[in-house]
Amino acid sequence: MTGFAPLTPPPRLLMGPGPINCYPRVLSAMSTQLVGQYDPVMTGYMNETMALYRTLFNTENQQTMLIDGTSRAGIEAVLVSAIEPGDKVLVPIFGRFGHLLAEIAERADAEVHTIEVPWGEVFKPEQIEAAIKNVQPKLLAIVQGDTSTTMFQPLEDIGAICEANDVLFYCDATASVGGNPLEVDKWKLDAVSVGLQKCLGGPSGSAPITMSQKFVDVVRTRHHVEAGIRDAHHESARGPKIRSNYFDLGMIMDYWGDERLNHHTEAATMLYCARECAILHLEEGQQNVIARHKVAGDAMLAGVQALGLTPFGDLANKMSNVVGVVIPDGVHGEQVREDLLLRFNIEIGTSFGPLKGKIWRIGTMGYNARQDAVLHTLQSLETVLRKQGMSLPAGAGVDAALAVYSGAMNV
Ligand SMILES: *Cc1c(COP(=O)(O)O)cnc(C)c1O
Repeated sequence: MTGFAPLTPPPRLLMGPGPINCYPRVLSAMSTQLVGQYDPVMTGYMNETMALYRTLFNTENQQTMLIDGTSRAGIEAVLVSAIEPGDKVLVPIFGRFGHLLAEIAERADAEVHTIEVPWGEVFKPEQIEAAIKNVQPKLLAIVQGDTSTTMFQPLEDIGAICEANDVLFYCDATASVGGNPLEVDKWKLDAVSVGLQKCLGGPSGSAPITMSQKFVDVVRTRHHVEAGIRDAHHESARGPKIRSNYFDLGMIMDYWGDERLNHHTEAATMLYCARECAILHLEEGQQNVIARHKVAGDAMLAGVQALGLTPFGDLANKMSNVVGVVIPDGVHGEQVREDLLLRFNIEIGTSFGPLKGKIWRIGTMGYNARQDAVLHTLQSLETVLRKQGMSLPAGAGVDAALAVYSGAMNV
């Protein structure tokens, strides 16, 4: 007897901006027994995971793999491996995660230039083109979907601008991947990093990334093999060493590549999990998963509007998988979240920065992009708001969501 109870968390329905409840098959994958990291079975799983994420990212990039750590591990790996001290990096910021990219680039000693639009808006390609011409950066780092504002930045025209100006094009697509389109090759992205805990329906702790040949060539100019594992045929480093050992993408590529040069011990349980997330995604079909997120998001949006609540931001550029809801005057936002959590076992998100205390964020992602999850959330929200003294049209949220679902066949 230790006095510590076995793990029995309450059966919450996680309807915030991430993390979300995992797909049941992902939970099973994570309780699968380990094999050694150089066991041919394990290296086979690693190769399968690379192939699965190539398909998921819509890319031919050979260098597609997992970084062990949460999504920001993927961000750090890309930025610290691409940036040499003094390099210029341009970060267009439209929410909290743009600030994070700028912060990480600063720590990598880049000369960081930012442009901003108000939270709730996104950039036009011309704004980004003008800034690129002005700054002439080595790398453009931008977020695709920023959960802090729910906005979705269109990327399809930016790749050509980067290519014409010889700028590397990196995107953090953590919040949007899976639930919204992401065409790595067609959109000429040079590096993309994501996480599992949003639309891919897994836990946080693994960061799939992909790199174009152009990006790989930049990283390879600083190729370095650790002294303890170096053989005669390994060339010594040319450029200055990448400043992180753990996030050195050159060494991580050597580990995932044919040579299997020892680096970290692959987080096998997270690899099982990331592999299962991708299999589930591709089995259901990319377009079907995107459509399922779209209808769930549309239903949630219609529901909150029918309750007389105001959605946040420019709806023409909203991610389909999360909606911001303006907290009505006179309503205690945190009390509503607490009542939803403790009485209904439903978690919705708060917000930060300029939106702190102003909006809730309600997600419909991965396993939870489901009709029943949308309906339960809307009905519970209505009940909780009524308890706060608001008068609301009874059942209107659920009715509006049901109408969206009956208009959308087979999703
Ligand atoms: C949620 C989110 C992350 C999460 O990063 P973690 O390190 O996994 O917590 C990163 N980027 C964006 C754009 C996100 O929305």
